[in-house]
Amino acid sequence: MSLDDELSGALDARRQQHLYRQRRNVESAQGAEVVVAGQRLVNFCSNDYLGLANHPHLVEALQSCASHYGVGSGASHLVCGHSREHQQLEQELAAATGRERALLFSTGYMANLGTINALVGKGDAVFEDKLNHASLLDGGLLSGARFQRFRHNDLADLEGKLARSEARRKLVVVDAVFSMDGDLAPLPQLASLCQRYNAWLMADDAHGFGCLGAGGAGTAVHYGLSQQQLPILMGTLGKAVGSFGAFVAGSEVLIETLIQQARPYIYTTAMPAAVAAATRASLRLIAAEEWRRQHLHSLVQRFRQGATALGLQLMDSETAIQPVLLGSAESALQLASALQEQGFWVAAIRPPTVPPGTSRLRITFSAAHSQEQVDALLQALQRTLAL
Ligand SMILES: *Cc1c(COP(=O)(O)O)cnc(C)c1O
Repeated sequence: MSLDDELSGALDARRQQHLYRQRRNVESAQGAEVVVAGQRLVNFCSNDYLGLANHPHLVEALQSCASHYGVGSGASHLVCGHSREHQQLEQELAAATGRERALLFSTGYMANLGTINALVGKGDAVFEDKLNHASLLDGGLLSGARFQRFRHNDLADLEGKLARSEARRKLVVVDAVFSMDGDLAPLPQLASLCQRYNAWLMADDAHGFGCLGAGGAGTAVHYGLSQQQLPILMGTLGKAVGSFGAFVAGSEVLIETLIQQARPYIYTTAMPAAVAAATRASLRLIAAEEWRRQHLHSLVQRFRQGATALGLQLMDSETAIQPVLLGSAESALQLASALQEQGFWVAAIRPPTVPPGTSRLRITFSAAHSQEQVDALLQALQRTLAL
């Protein structure tokens, strides 16, 4: 069979199962409202939780840095792509998270792949929560270590697996805030479990950094976990930070090991220096502007109260990620498109991103939203569900 004949069969099957994905061309900056195909939509599907992606300080930092460094970084960090802006950003990330050092990666996906693969391999074992982000699961699978998933946030299930493991290196990996459910991992309990079984703990704080903890320093600070308790801390810069890229923070020895061993660090072009400069501007706003986190939190509370009154099935989440569980992929798609007709952009999340039968709307809030926009979303949900 020809390539296209073979592939189109699989695409058709995907369409029939309501699992086909499509891109839309956005015609505006990120913000509480975006323009898509000429239509203005209130945006409830972005990860720009603090409303910083189009902040004038970030734009200005990017522009003025680009006028000094240009656009391209020219090479990988280990050749000639590592600028003073990158170096300073790494120092600021280490200070913000209370770690000895931090290392920038070009994306969070690469940070996870690179870190897990630098730390474990054949003969080792990696334990991952079933609901971990795809990049963590892929990193574990690729590593060649014995890959075991434990039930979501189930300490007893993990403990049983750790107790039975005879691997020399044991790595436990979780999302600090689960990306599709919005709930937190029990990191303090995981940290003590790891200490008891001589395992290393890694947490991916893609959805906590910027939003949780004093000064937005993230979930590790929220729980007061030291570098010793949580030795491998990863965060991303494309979500609440409103920029692009990712980092891993931890000990001097961990960071030096990643520089030497993490292939997705070594063999890729460094992010542009201007992106690092914009990220630095964002970190200053994140630390200084507590009101963004407070406002975000009050919007989330308002939504949860209103949605509960409507009888919607919410999840156990206090974060900006508020899924509404629907079950079938088809009903998630229908509800999302009914909301779009009323001017709201909400993502229908379907397998394989979430387990079969758990399709949902993933509603995300931002400090850029107003109370009125949240109320309008609730009214649109009410109208749609009454149909
Ligand atoms: C978004 C995300 C990533 C990937 O980060 P990118 O910088 O977008 O590649 C990794 N982990 C989690 C939990 C995420 O939500």
